[in-house]
Amino acid sequence: MNAPDHVATLLDRPEAQARSVDDLVAWPLIRRLIAFDTTSRDSNLALLDWVRDYLAGHGIPSSYTFDDERRKANLWATLPAKDGNATEGGIVLSGHTDVVPVDGQPWDTDPFAATVRGDRVHGRGVTDMKSFSATGLALVPEFLRRGLKHPVHFALSYDEEVGCIGVRRLIADIVARGVRPMGCIVGEPTGMELVLAHKGKKAWRCRVRGHEAHSSLTPRGVNAVQIACEIVAYVAERARGFRDAGRRDEAYDVPYTTAHVGTIRGGTALNIVPRDCSFDFELRHLPFDDPDAFVDDVKAFAARFLPGMHAVSAATFIEFDALSAMPGMDTHDGSEIARIAHRCNGHAGVGKVSFGTEAALFQGADIATVICGPGHIEQAHQPNEWASLDQLARCEAFLRRLADHVCVA
Ligand SMILES: [Zn+2]
Repeated sequence: MNAPDHVATLLDRPEAQARSVDDLVAWPLIRRLIAFDTTSRDSNLALLDWVRDYLAGHGIPSSYTFDDERRKANLWATLPAKDGNATEGGIVLSGHTDVVPVDGQPWDTDPFAATVRGDRVHGRGVTDMKSFSATGLALVPEFLRRGLKHPVHFALSYDEEVGCIGVRRLIADIVARGVRPMGCIVGEPTGMELVLAHKGKKAWRCRVRGHEAHSSLTPRGVNAVQIACEIVAYVAERARGFRDAGRRDEAYDVPYTTAHVGTIRGGTALNIVPRDCSFDFELRHLPFDDPDAFVDDVKAFAARFLPGMHAVSAATFIEFDALSAMPGMDTHDGSEIARIAHRCNGHAGVGKVSFGTEAALFQGADIATVICGPGHIEQAHQPNEWASLDQLARCEAFLRRLADHVCVA
């Protein structure tokens, strides 16, 4: 798939510049995809059906893998090579279709209407991560017109934002069908820099059951909120330990393992010793830090409260539920997909990031994977989420150079 003779001309080509959205081939598709409210809790089928019809218009069939309720699905579609090959080698362009909620966020524009302001495009999903998928889809006519040496696959998933749930079924399905891509590019926002590694992540819920009492009689109760807060404080203390004394990898934007508590719920009224409290916490870990050893320490810390709790009521407890787990990923810089992606982004830099992606799951299926997409993670999940015209133009230039690699003409 490499074409060393192309390299010089590729790198000589001036970087595409977009002075307005109308310079972007992908603009109509970006606008269309953002207009679908695909918040993770809702169905993504309207978006998928639109993409299926769009691809069918170019003679490309799509297949879906559904969730249990058939409310959501992944879409898989293959542009076959000129010789008819649709299974061996080739590159997967991967993007999730779901977006995080806009509830309670102060937006200045309609989040589901892509809106240009100055040199920025605002909209939910414009950076995380509909623009990458839209740009890949916009170039389908060009891929087909030029003819492909190797297949190009589209993988559009559901429920990424709630734990990379959907894509697992898509990957299982293509493995079962004997599709063996050479590599995969996940278009999560990296500022169009090439990312070859990211941290792993594990999340848990801690549930503390205390014992209710009138607040004038605190010794007769077990205060679930206070015990939960002691455990929260232990998580925070361990997080400081990772920061101050843990092993580091300076290639990451945050070069150490992090832990944090994201939500907590407990108590009903100030004059009642609270019976229940629960909180969710997570660890985003470097490959050499063991998430299970961490949670074992948290459990051991929590266990010290149990004798005192049981002395008041045998019904009290502290329990931990595993919520989600994402392995880390680390793709070799010398792999073919990394070398191709390096050339496609004009060797614009390489890094490691702290956020998890579906890349780890493709990697787990022996599909070498890199991450490279427009926009920056700092703008993802925010009110007024945006990507710059420059980033969107760079994404288009990246995928055009990819076409130079995979196309015959
Ligand atoms: Zn994302």
